[in-house]
Amino acid sequence: MSTPHCARGPTLCSKCREAAKVENYALVRIYREPGMVTRPVMEIIENGKKSHCEFDVIKVFKDNIEVKDYAKKNSIKIVS
Ligand SMILES: [Zn+2]
Repeated sequence: MSTPHCARGPTLCSKCREAAKVENYALVRIYREPGMVTRPVMEIIENGKKSHCEFDVIKVFKDNIEVKDYAKKNSIKIVS
């Protein structure tokens, strides 16, 4: 995924447009219900059903090896 610079997104923010060009791996916290703060939104397809959820980036990884290592140590399921 590309990690956003801020909640305004690539349409409104030039720094987000730059950030959208870089693909990386990230651990994100998904919010099923809208919150009282502004967060970026991503489309999620779960069991074939599309939805849009707010999220926070918790950690960005430099490569796939670092992702697998972190997931193994922290018992985290990797999804794409
Ligand atoms: Zn931004």
